[in-house]
Amino acid sequence: MKLQGTMQVNQKNHLEIGGCDTVELAREFGTPLYVIDETLFRQNCRAYYQAFTESYGATVIYASKTLSNLAVCSMVEQEGLGLDVVSGGELYTAAKARFPMERVYFHGNNKSPEELRMALEYKVGRIVVDNRYELETLNNLAGEMGVKVNILLRLSPGVEAHTHEYIKTGQIDSKFGLVIENGMAMAGVKRALQLPHVQLTGFHCHIGSQIFELQSYAHAAEVMMGFVHNVYRETGFVAEELNMGGGLGIYYYQGDRPRPVKEYADVLMTAVKNTAAALDLPVPKVIVEPGRSIAGPAGITLYTVGAIKDIPGIRKYVAVDGGMGDNPRPALYQSKYEACVANRMHEQPVEKVSIAGKCCESGDMLIRDIALPSLQPGDILAVLGTGAYNYSMSMNYNRLPRPAMILVNNGRADLIVRREDYCDLIRNDVMPDRLRSNLVKLASSR
Ligand SMILES: *Cc1c(COP(=O)(O)O)cnc(C)c1O
Repeated sequence: MKLQGTMQVNQKNHLEIGGCDTVELAREFGTPLYVIDETLFRQNCRAYYQAFTESYGATVIYASKTLSNLAVCSMVEQEGLGLDVVSGGELYTAAKARFPMERVYFHGNNKSPEELRMALEYKVGRIVVDNRYELETLNNLAGEMGVKVNILLRLSPGVEAHTHEYIKTGQIDSKFGLVIENGMAMAGVKRALQLPHVQLTGFHCHIGSQIFELQSYAHAAEVMMGFVHNVYRETGFVAEELNMGGGLGIYYYQGDRPRPVKEYADVLMTAVKNTAAALDLPVPKVIVEPGRSIAGPAGITLYTVGAIKDIPGIRKYVAVDGGMGDNPRPALYQSKYEACVANRMHEQPVEKVSIAGKCCESGDMLIRDIALPSLQPGDILAVLGTGAYNYSMSMNYNRLPRPAMILVNNGRADLIVRREDYCDLIRNDVMPDRLRSNLVKLASSR
């Protein structure tokens, strides 16, 4: 287990984060509870700002799909980063947080006309166009509104990275972007250059997530710059911007070896510069879009232990008061997490258990086979590294209200997302009149 950021063990042998005792946080705010370490979140933003912006003049935009709410948008803004949004909802959140719209990039493989119109009205900095249909739709909408919008084209470079390895070819089969290899990308560029209401500024790619192999970024940069060169030769258009996406891996579990942001910046920027020089092209403005590596390590989730079921010789199930509703990742893609007993941090592991959620799904297991001190009902379990893709992927399956989120710093805990209650669960339910009258009839006939 790895305690990151401001996490430490206090004198009561409790887990502390942001100077707050997690056992007291659980008592005050209830569980399940998302806790975000403000210091670490901001440090991660700064590491990117320093490594990319200060060292190379590159732009860093935070991928808000990772974790988005008003407070998070505000911290990202204060740290000088831009924002990547992929839906009207994420864009709305940014707008309500008064995020400067010129620093917003709008992504997505199927933006609706309403979302595109909203982005034009808000005057977002760039729209990253995914496909030909979107290109035409956007051009028409911008024309109706009498504006010209800056766009990037999303490309599929044929490089797909996974954790430890990357695949150089193939990966043409993707729902994202225009394929370089088969000419779709070049055709898209030529069309974009003809359209009067879009201004092509450059290209985008995103090669995957939870990446530890930095060479895959260098390779993707070479492929992208090769395309920039081909476009220049065929059309005379010189791309000003190259958005290389996000994806840097973080520590979740023993064996994960995240690479420092500085190294990532050096590898990527060197590849862009060297390729530009070799092809006799100007070095484009580089943009990166980290999400997980900013928010992930900064979050933990606190749960209360409930039912414990020991099936002798098979498995000991320890159930907590949350699960796939607040963290769908283990059920979605067998993600692994580490955890600790927040109220008894000094105790050594004595047994292997599995942490179960409370949803009606056998697959609702947060952690399989983890060595922990002997757990009792009422213990507080902290699952680590839950800042990214937990709250943002949460759901109300089984009509479980979504947890609260707090931001901790220097002994202070501020509520940043209110806990849902049962009223929230039926807020959008509508009772048709004919059903209502049946109920009334039923009630009166009793
Ligand atoms: C998901 C995504 C990101 C962020 O990826 P991380 O792995 O969280 O860093 C950036 N850009 C695009 C286009 C994405 O889809």
